[in-house]
Amino acid sequence: MKYEVHPYNYSPSDNEIIEDLQKVAKENGFSKMTMREYREHGKYDTSTISRRFGTWNKALQKANIGVSQQFWTVEQLFENIEKVWKKKGYQPTRRDMDDKNLSTISSGAYLRKFGKWSSALEQFVSYINQENTIEALDVETLEESLGHKTKRDINLRIRFKVLMRDNFKCCVCGASPAKDSSVELHVDHIIPWSKGGETTIENLQTLCSKCNLGKSNIL
Ligand SMILES: [Zn+2]
Repeated sequence: MKYEVHPYNYSPSDNEIIEDLQKVAKENGFSKMTMREYREHGKYDTSTISRRFGTWNKALQKANIGVSQQFWTVEQLFENIEKVWKKKGYQPTRRDMDDKNLSTISSGAYLRKFGKWSSALEQFVSYINQENTIEALDVETLEESLGHKTKRDINLRIRFKVLMRDNFKCCVCGASPAKDSSVELHVDHIIPWSKGGETTIENLQTLCSKCNLGKSNIL
């Protein structure tokens, strides 16, 4: 353990602890970290950490250590790219993926799967650009969706294409998360699916949460 001088009675905040856990795990490439491993490299006392978070494993969980090692499917990785892209309003950087407020999957998972962040983005875009954008109805849903050619659910490909077409801006008021990070975008049917509208790019639009709410009140 490194010795550092702290003011008497210095008690690190939860965030300071979490940051140091993450730093040590990252610098040493630990996917899971034992208390002994942390003691060798970390700043704080492991029993203090365990006490603070309940158990050592809970502290690790809180710091997302071990969690990022889980096996994500390509679909999950792409859904998360779309989520971050939608929140930012433009193409996410590798660093954005490590921002816990934006992304649920860290950049490490993408690097493990695709090698480079740029390759992850390329794969994502080619996935979006695959042709079969309209999902055919399956037999179980056919009855309840009588008269429809498409499913109500808007899949990732269609949703992303609509967001791209609309430049990640609300079609009604023009609000954009790129300018105001509090703006939340939704992709919504223009003619509601319940009123016979189809899930096609032409019948979908990007709305901010405020305009989306206003719209459902009117209809
Ligand atoms: Zn709006």
